Amino acid sequence: MKEMKLKLYNTQKRKKELFVPNHPDKVGLYSCGPTTYDFLHVGNARALVVGDLINRVLKEFGYNVTFVRNFTDVDDKIIKRANERGIGAVEHAQEFINECLKDMEELEMIPATHTPKVSEHMQDIIDLVQSLIAKGHAYETEGEVFFHVPSFEGYGKLSKKDLDSLEHGIRVEVDQRKKHPSDFVLWKPSKEGEPAWDSPWGKGRPGWHIECSAMSKHYLGDTLDIHHGGVDLIFPHHENEIAQSEAANSCSYCNCWVHNEFLNFGTEKMSKSLGNVVTIRSFIEKFSGMILRNILLSAHYRSRLEWSDEVVKKAMQDVERIHQFVKDIKAADIRSEEADEKTLAQIQDAYDKFRYELSNDINTSGAMAQFFSFLRDVRRDLLKENTLPSNTMIPIMDMIQLVQRTLGLIHDDPEQVLNRLQEIKKEMALEKGSLLPEEVEKLLEERKEARATKDWTTADKIRDTFQEKGIEVKDNPDGTTTWFYR
Ligand SMILES: [Zn+2]
Repeated sequence: MKEMKLKLYNTQKRKKELFVPNHPDKVGLYSCGPTTYDFLHVGNARALVVGDLINRVLKEFGYNVTFVRNFTDVDDKIIKRANERGIGAVEHAQEFINECLKDMEELEMIPATHTPKVSEHMQDIIDLVQSLIAKGHAYETEGEVFFHVPSFEGYGKLSKKDLDSLEHGIRVEVDQRKKHPSDFVLWKPSKEGEPAWDSPWGKGRPGWHIECSAMSKHYLGDTLDIHHGGVDLIFPHHENEIAQSEAANSCSYCNCWVHNEFLNFGTEKMSKSLGNVVTIRSFIEKFSGMILRNILLSAHYRSRLEWSDEVVKKAMQDVERIHQFVKDIKAADIRSEEADEKTLAQIQDAYDKFRYELSNDINTSGAMAQFFSFLRDVRRDLLKENTLPSNTMIPIMDMIQLVQRTLGLIHDDPEQVLNRLQEIKKEMALEKGSLLPEEVEKLLEERKEARATKDWTTADKIRDTFQEKGIEVKDNPDGTTTWFYR
């Protein structure tokens, strides 16, 4: 197989470039994780799944990846919710970290190498703040520590904002304690009812940005190969991370910045399929994690993804098509006939094209288009009466495994996914006034009798009812009948 090199779009350079890690085979990948004050919104799922995707694709291209995704468990929203419940903030956050981990599993995500929490890295944070003060990049006023933005020359290099325009943009009243309006908090005193940690500046807690600089340094060292997050984090979060880390470590913080676009829901009205479904959990319960994952990977990660009923419907069809195919391949016997060299070369070509799309800034929609075209060709040319030419079984399974390990869009047990899809379709059909299973069975009995007595009028009427109610009936060659919700 020809060697393919991974190219990624680097936000900082605003262009696609060949990915070159600091060490030949090892990659340090950091992804900004969620703030766990509640169940996560379905919109949060995109950054989670894209982080997982980058990890999988790096592995596919031969890298030994150390993947760090943090959990923010110290935050104003968490403190507010915890106080309402009368429990500790870290305890409240842990409950939702556990829920988030369940969602991630349903979304077919591979666990990260490390999932650090802010509350467990206070010493790293304090050490980093102290070194920033020692180097003249930060200062303390009344127990509060600020990063002094003008002290860091490269400020704005990721977001392409310059300090002057930022200063004009700040309209809030001037904070007298700050030396410059852009200065941001590294450490602040805790108020009554807030979690507090001992520090050289009194009992307090960290600002938001410092946690990622501290935790990434702890696990991945001073220079990261890739830092990922949603586009909403470019400014100020990632800009501030660069300032903190480069000022403290005196070296480049990150070689390649990768940002995913939003999943949009429209402002006017929620789509019908979503209804009250706003959390990842409620979507999974109604539709499954596999369908959500399929939606999220259907578009390139740098393209905006608009949520609609059509998008959900399309994902359901794709999930069904993929898993029906995998089920048929797994159940197929081999026949003595062998496919010719040209056919085998075509299968290899599909495999290479799929990987090429991934190498090209992880183009998941292009890769899936390649897979669907492969699937269609195999069905049309090779799969005959549940058999495959003997020498095609292994290369076809290789292709299936490639899709599975890089995109995670194929479940080990296709039957389980197909059964779940039938359940979902049944629920949706019944919501629209379709027939209950026992009603379908009763009509099938009546149809059988009508056919036996050559009563075609009744048989046709029943066929029309099925058609109208979205019931698909299949008469099998062995005389049995199967049916399902369309
Ligand atoms: Zn972060």
